[in-house]
Amino acid sequence: MASNRKLLVLPGDGIGPECMSEVMRIADWFANYRSVSFDITEELVGGAAIDAHGTPLTDATMQLALDSDAVLFGAVGGPKWEELEFAARPERGLLRLRKEMDLFANLRPALVFDALADASTLKREFVAGLDLMIIRELTGGIYFGEPRGIETLPDGTRRGINTQVYTTPEIERVLRVAFDLAGKRQGRVCSVEKANVMESGELWRETAQEIHDKEFPGIELTHMYADNCAMQLVRQPKQFDVIVTDNLFGDMLSDTAAMLTGSLGMLPSASLGAADATGRRKALYEPVHGSAPDIAGENKANPLATILSYAMMLRYSFDLGDEAELVERAVTGVLDQGLRTADIMADGKEEVSTTDMGAAVVDEMAALAG
Ligand code: NAD
Repeated sequence: MASNRKLLVLPGDGIGPECMSEVMRIADWFANYRSVSFDITEELVGGAAIDAHGTPLTDATMQLALDSDAVLFGAVGGPKWEELEFAARPERGLLRLRKEMDLFANLRPALVFDALADASTLKREFVAGLDLMIIRELTGGIYFGEPRGIETLPDGTRRGINTQVYTTPEIERVLRVAFDLAGKRQGRVCSVEKANVMESGELWRETAQEIHDKEFPGIELTHMYADNCAMQLVRQPKQFDVIVTDNLFGDMLSDTAAMLTGSLGMLPSASLGAADATGRRKALYEPVHGSAPDIAGENKANPLATILSYAMMLRYSFDLGDEAELVERAVTGVLDQGLRTADIMADGKEEVSTTDMGAAVVDEMAALAG
């Protein structure tokens, strides 16, 4: 069926294509039973593109990504391409997509399914039902700031330099994403920086408060220092709804939050760019995990992180909240039935393959939809 929703699918390498096949099963179900369809184009990225075209991302694929409403990405990389110089490696394909699509807001949900609460290193009571979202600024801050480098001083010692730098527009745009998102969740934003010791943090805090007061007075805004936030995430993670923070702190806090959930195979993510005149944002959705070469081709991978990334795409790029919820409820359902891929296997549960897990999610969707 023709559709005005353009979706670029980039399965990539290793378990990327295996997990993506299960997502396509779900997309087929929506097309057949819900008349929700996309104009899907599939292309190569990463090692697969290096083998076919000599580059991890062709200009033509880059253009397709820019022209699409959303990009769904699998994973890239593997031992076959590890000897290549850094600039020619599979991962460069992903970095180029992020850069040229100007994806400045990285959304990392930390969601603990009841059935998996025992897989966390924290006690069940602290994580069961956890549903928080970390938004990390992705294109500014200390990873990009100038001056940077390593210099030799007159006395022969050396000095390494990186610069934490943020402008008000950079802070404003990521804060707007956070407030917008909180409006669709529990309505609470915690803005995180180190305003006590960093001027860039002071500017971050002032700007967050200004945008809140002017544009989003209905959302609850609190401020927290990054070191305290790290403690609170492992002390009482359920106090948070949306956390928004800079590139460096976000890098660390999002990995901390990820570990509360217990498994890499369950974690989706989204990266969003600026909104155009129609409100549409450039967007890329991908699981947090990599290409898992150790299990690639064995029908063992957990496809749920990629499936949950697809659900995020339905919600954030296409405003299909009901459909996203159906996918998420189906994932909850199969876990409650005791189905587990090897990475999340536990005593008394039933171990299933990648394809069995994908099929079970579709069956559950059909059952839930009646
Ligand atoms: P990885 O995430 O691929 O794997 C880490 C471990 O987790 C492995 O034991 C793997 O089997 C397991 N695992 C990961 N995802 C799983 C899933 N869905 N189901 C079951 N088990 C899963 O990280 P790595 O081993 O450090 O990297 C492997 C390759 O992936 C490297 O080439 C790396 O550069 C690349 N990588 C790519 C991305 C990306 O494409 N965004 C991210 C991270 C790593």
